[in-house]
Amino acid sequence: MECSGNQNKDEIRVQQNKKIIENLSRIKRKIAVLSGKGGVGKSTIAVNLAVYLAEKGFKVGLLDVDLHGPSVPTILGIKGFPLDMGNNSIMPVNYSENLKAVSVEGLLKDTDDALIWRGPMKIGVIRQFIADVDWGPLDFIIIDSPPGTGDEPLTVAQEIPGAEALIITTPQEVSMSDVRKSVNFCKTLDMPILGLIENMSGFVCPGCGKKTDIFKSGTGEAAAKKMGIKFLGALPIEPGIMGSSDKGAPFVKESASESAKIFGSIADKIL
Ligand code: ADP
Repeated sequence: MECSGNQNKDEIRVQQNKKIIENLSRIKRKIAVLSGKGGVGKSTIAVNLAVYLAEKGFKVGLLDVDLHGPSVPTILGIKGFPLDMGNNSIMPVNYSENLKAVSVEGLLKDTDDALIWRGPMKIGVIRQFIADVDWGPLDFIIIDSPPGTGDEPLTVAQEIPGAEALIITTPQEVSMSDVRKSVNFCKTLDMPILGLIENMSGFVCPGCGKKTDIFKSGTGEAAAKKMGIKFLGALPIEPGIMGSSDKGAPFVKESASESAKIFGSIADKIL
């Protein structure tokens, strides 16, 4: 005979599964932004994609499950990420009329605190963010996961059926083995791959307009072809992108900038 503690846990899990299914049924497209390495611009792209889609009139949710290094709050310019914990649900932060966001930073007492969690706790908090957040009906949910193929992207892939992977890389040859790992991860988990974006692909001098391929360029496109996945486009290095993220003003809002235009054409392919 099983002890009642375990029965209780099982019941909670069953209830949570129901809520997850219910919540996900109200979200049309789920996009998990993945990368093999950190620092390649995954969070920058996740946030700007969410903002771009929201500005186009879609209802968008942005879920930051980069539990050890949440960058979404900084890029959106939301300090401390005040989540309203109601009785039965968590209210996301309304960034704009069409964009709701949730970050794990909202669970930290101090934004400089480090999360020291083992796998089951990470899985639990991600499940809770899907089950208990009052997302409402959405056209898109964009999920920013940590780099690699650990607990967080694995939980996203397993708990969000139908989630599509958007893989971000930089053009260096060393990044390509990480792209292969991400692709294999998706294939193993039957996760459809939306495509690959090459970020930091060359630097266009703001003075003379000459392009210098600091980290090479074009490697991502060749790798995508070889792996049979779609290449969605290349975003150059632009100091303005970094500056706007640091300021908490997503660069895609400055629609006149060259990078915002390039980003728009990449996002339109996703649409
Ligand atoms: P990741 O989520 O992959 O760790 P981030 O999105 O946090 O990476 O980006 C890492 C740093 O690089 C940030 O300071 C960001 O502003 C900057 N960055 C990202 N993409 C670009 C780009 N195309 N041009 C200039 N800076 C960029």
